[in-house]
Amino acid sequence: MAEPEVVDVVVVGLGVGGEEVAGRLAEAGLTVVGVERDLVGGECPYWGCIPSKMMIRAANAIAEARRIDGLAGAAEVRPDWAPVAKRIREEATDTWDDTVAVERFTGKGGRFVRGSARLDGPGRVRVGERVFQARHGIVLGTGTKPSVPPVDGLADTPYWTNRQAIEVEELPESLLVLGGGAIGLELAQVFARFGVRVTVVEAADRVLAVEEPEASEVAAAALRADGVQIHTGVRAERVGHDGRGFTLRGAGGARFTAERLLVVTGRRAHLDELGLDTVGVDAGQRYLVVDDRLHVTEGIWAVGDVTGEGAFTHVAMYQAGIVVADVLDHVARADGGPDASGTARVTGGAVGASGAAGADGSAGAVPRADYRALPRVTFTDPEVGAVGLTERQARERGINVQVGLSELPSSARGWIHKSGNEGFVKLVADADRGVLVGATSVGPAGGEVLSGLAVAVHAAVPLGRLRQMIYAYPTFHRAIEDALRNLR
Ligand SMILES: Cc1cc2nc3c(=O)[nH]c(=O)nc-3n(C[C@H](O)[C@H](O)[C@H](O)COP(=O)(O)OP(=O)(O)OC[C@H]3O[C@@H](n4cnc5c(N)ncnc54)[C@H](O)[C@@H]3O)c2cc1C
Repeated sequence: MAEPEVVDVVVVGLGVGGEEVAGRLAEAGLTVVGVERDLVGGECPYWGCIPSKMMIRAANAIAEARRIDGLAGAAEVRPDWAPVAKRIREEATDTWDDTVAVERFTGKGGRFVRGSARLDGPGRVRVGERVFQARHGIVLGTGTKPSVPPVDGLADTPYWTNRQAIEVEELPESLLVLGGGAIGLELAQVFARFGVRVTVVEAADRVLAVEEPEASEVAAAALRADGVQIHTGVRAERVGHDGRGFTLRGAGGARFTAERLLVVTGRRAHLDELGLDTVGVDAGQRYLVVDDRLHVTEGIWAVGDVTGEGAFTHVAMYQAGIVVADVLDHVARADGGPDASGTARVTGGAVGASGAAGADGSAGAVPRADYRALPRVTFTDPEVGAVGLTERQARERGINVQVGLSELPSSARGWIHKSGNEGFVKLVADADRGVLVGATSVGPAGGEVLSGLAVAVHAAVPLGRLRQMIYAYPTFHRAIEDALRNLR
């Protein structure tokens, strides 16, 4: 067996979260080995957020051009996928090559190892024949993979996941999208706007089932207006492929056909590959259970999607900040320095250098993860932004709920905007505490309007203060003021 190489920290998986942790710890002067088996940067830059938002930007430009009729004359639109595919290939992904990202990490002082890593007992990580002994800790940022449902016949067909959908150079004539969540709806609308005949099949009784029902309605209506067929309450039972196209059969005799099938029914962590049993952690869990400083067990932290705390890049980045601060705190304590775990404060040394701030914003303390004001945006047109609890979640928690809703088309800005003005602001308040615990903003700028609502939930701004604020006229976010007035 190879002699272990002793280093300070090993980071397994250099996706959004792992790369951030590894790079910042290397910059802080630790010897950091970062292991990645695929592309440094992970799903977000190559097959997720960035290329999908480039596609959406292009599709929205088409939709806006089509809105010229009736607002500003006439426009003839001839969609062409070639510039979109080129932009994804050349600007976003370097044709799925991570040389720049590897150099970004090694430029910070990190040691890069390409390969699949697994734990090999306390403090040890194995990558093929190489074994690393981590003096201070191991960080797992191994993300998720598409979760493909066990539908009869599906595994034997050439179905797409998000990866093939993002890499596509020539659009199919028709597309079945299995899954009406955020990713499914975003991609369905994009392809429909480029002329693909799109059908969405969703098992739940509405699309975007985790968000407010009103958001599901607006999103479904918007996609239907783009020509997307939406079938909810349909559980897929069998999939076949005859060499030219797909047939999907659902419970109750439903039958759909298309040239391509995109499966976007969620994502799943693959813990069984990580050797967790060698450190006494249960590999049978759905996600790695972490505490509020992202600890899995002694000497092991996790970051990003693998924690199951919200599969978003902003969650991975947020958690990365906490992991960096906590690892550096451990290093400082191991070196006989002061404790920054939250009971005592340090203002200098490694922790200070990390730039970490406490939950109260003070420098030095290791912050604790707090997901009460977790924001999320589905980048359909209109965008669906949401933060904190939905009305139903708040009621299930026994909160004395008040709800306020205002419709965008009847706001000054929505009326001016006219075509494409669908949306609303919905507020969920805790009447006893007099604060917002959740909010949804749907509209042309729903994701941007969300920011003020996220501040309100995050900082528990009293409703009275929110009502006394001045809201610029005529912005979309003035709908917040109307919704506050409607709280009851
Ligand atoms: C189509 C799509 C659109 C999205 N859009 C958005 C969006 O608009 N906004 C948003 O916030 N989020 C979005 N997301 C989610 C976002 O991409 C993820 O939340 C983010 O990538 C999570 O980062 P991560 O570091 O946890 O994991 P990942 O990015 O999945 O990275 C994990 C890395 O670990 C590597 N790895 C795994 N196991 C091992 C091992 N044993 N050894 C070595 N390496 C390993 C993998 O190869 C991978 O590179 C989108 C996702 C998809 C699929």
